[in-house]
Amino acid sequence: MSALPAHRAAASPIAESQSLRAFIVSVSLAVAVCISGAFLGIALRARTLIKNEMLNRARTDFRTIVQVRAWNASYGGVFVEKRVGVVSNPYLEHPDIQGTDGRWYTKKNPALMTREISERIKQSEGYGFHITSLNPLNPGNQPDPKESEALRSFETGSQERFWTEAIGGRTYTRYMAPLRAEQSCLECHAKQGYKVGDIRGGISFTYDTEEVQAKLRTNLYLVSSLALLTTGLLMGLVVLFFRQLVKKLAEARRLLETLATTDPLTGLSNRRQIMARLEEECERIQRGGIGLSCIMLDVDHFKQVNDTYGHQQGDEVLKMIASQARASLRAYDVVGRYGGEEFIVLLPETDLETAQAVAERLRMAIQASALLRTATGQPQPTTVSQGLTQWRSGDTVDTLIHRADEALYRAKANGRNRIEIVEQ
Ligand code: GH3
Ligand code: MG
Ligand code: MG
Repeated sequence: MSALPAHRAAASPIAESQSLRAFIVSVSLAVAVCISGAFLGIALRARTLIKNEMLNRARTDFRTIVQVRAWNASYGGVFVEKRVGVVSNPYLEHPDIQGTDGRWYTKKNPALMTREISERIKQSEGYGFHITSLNPLNPGNQPDPKESEALRSFETGSQERFWTEAIGGRTYTRYMAPLRAEQSCLECHAKQGYKVGDIRGGISFTYDTEEVQAKLRTNLYLVSSLALLTTGLLMGLVVLFFRQLVKKLAEARRLLETLATTDPLTGLSNRRQIMARLEEECERIQRGGIGLSCIMLDVDHFKQVNDTYGHQQGDEVLKMIASQARASLRAYDVVGRYGGEEFIVLLPETDLETAQAVAERLRMAIQASALLRTATGQPQPTTVSQGLTQWRSGDTVDTLIHRADEALYRAKANGRNRIEIVEQ
């Protein structure tokens, strides 16, 4: 007996769960992309800030050197006392002079001064700069390949170059800007054919940024791990949330289905459901099933029961009949409340004789259940009348029910508490 058959086809649960899965995947992906994007943005921003900071520093360093050189050039070079260890510039024609005090002085021109400052800085400050040209007076000032490339780009209008370079397994940030000929430079360099504004060469700066780069790399790993962790956590929460939602939806759907197909008082199939089952059984038997029996059951003098014992007791009688029916039917039999105090029992694969025995057993069981008691405490048996019929070729749901109803009418007419059969 199936009081709550689940034959109803819901709007394809497979398609529903597929579209829900697709939705969860898209939401998770969107979350992942947003979080990764945000974290990556933070990491890249840190990189850009540090790069800009380095660029500003290099520009300032370059301007400082240019100013110091201009100061030197504005005096046509400066003389320093030629003490022990102070060498003369071999590229100058007359680098040394003797003062009126008899001491010797040697000229430090901008190029030599720049190189000497560069040496000092390299030793004490951890960075270096290099004055160079595509056409240097001092062959020791030859540009390296990257510097040559930068110098050539200055000839075609580039204002500065900024790049990173791996040298000996360490990362260096390099900057180079052009040196232009000024009036004061031409005193010495006019013979090379320079005019004011011409690019004479450039100064390149080399900063050891291995530590900063290593910190940036660590930062990137940290941020990526954090992004992964946050994404995973959020995706987990999204999935958990949707799982809960799906569970609640499934529960709500089951409840709705139950409400739509069940009679609330007895818990049996309601009229709509029993008619649907009857439809199914009729189709099945038409496809070659055997022996479908149908019983229409009605409580005798139920109005009197209500009048005598009250409506609530009447309800208890209906519930008792439902539980007796459940107990005395097979798993694949169907019982439902057709309306009021009328029930329908469907017995698939059951011949008339067996169906009659089932109906009789049910009638006896209902009668035997001493639910009601008279005022003097005597048991008041509940009796039912039943009309029985069998599916015949050409039957529809309506004709089958009509015959069962006719049989029930006869049972009532013939004295109630009995079973009548209408075969044709
Ligand atoms: P008969 O033997 O000819 O069937 O007589 P009857 O009194 O059973 O038939 P009638 O159709 O006159 O009365 C049926 C009664 O069933 C009337 C109605 O109040 C009662 N009834 C219908 N549904 C319910 C219900 O859900 N609960 C209760 N307590 N009574 C109900
Ligand atoms: Mg009735
Ligand atoms: Mg009745």
